[in-house]
Amino acid sequence: MRQRIFAGNWKMNLNINDGVELVNRLKSIHTESLIIVCPPFTMLDAVSKAAKDSKVMVGAQNMHFEEKGAFTGEVSADMLIELGITHVIIGHSERRQYFAETDETVNKKTLYAISKGLIPIICVGESLQQREAGNAPEVVNRQVEAAINGVNTDKLIIAYEPIWAIGTGKTASPKDAGEVITGIRDTLRRLLGDKADDISILYGGSMNGSNVNELMEQKDIDGGLIGSASLSYEKFIQLF
Ligand code: PEP
Repeated sequence: MRQRIFAGNWKMNLNINDGVELVNRLKSIHTESLIIVCPPFTMLDAVSKAAKDSKVMVGAQNMHFEEKGAFTGEVSADMLIELGITHVIIGHSERRQYFAETDETVNKKTLYAISKGLIPIICVGESLQQREAGNAPEVVNRQVEAAINGVNTDKLIIAYEPIWAIGTGKTASPKDAGEVITGIRDTLRRLLGDKADDISILYGGSMNGSNVNELMEQKDIDGGLIGSASLSYEKFIQLF
């Protein structure tokens, strides 16, 4: 179902106490939006227990696409599910940039997550150079198409995150973000038919309490994937 969603990507920040406290406070918020927090692996257990029986969902920031085996340092879908995790960020631009994620690994992870019942939050986005060359829609739609190759479900979330807007304080203009996201919805419709209308598409990139309303006015933007503003209770709740 297409839903209003705000997902916090904590990246490599906070500690267990901070994470649990943040979730305990988020649990008491009354909102129509679905709130997801994505802590580092070491906090997943504690944060998931804190969020249990509440409306706050917990996601991981990554997972491997194999079931199990000799993959030192990696975490499997079953390991996440064992902790009560429901969502997983896949292909964040920082993973693509620093950890050699490719469209191919993003696709394998997406397929595997879906096969296990985890909801992937698939990240796509263009670099500044690609945006300035006028290629943003093409780059992003190619990434979407590669990521969902072989997928036949609406149980996924797409996050459009222009790389140049992540953690920089620069936000895509609502019009630009809206246009790319409408293009993503068209691509989803071409590939998945009517299921596209049930998929939430988020914007990510320096989203905060000051720019959220304008972004959310765009017809195809269903919410946000938020980095820095999700680390503080006061800043995060300004979004929903
Ligand atoms: C992110 O990393 O997904 C992100 C959007 O970060 P920020 O909100 O800090 O730009």
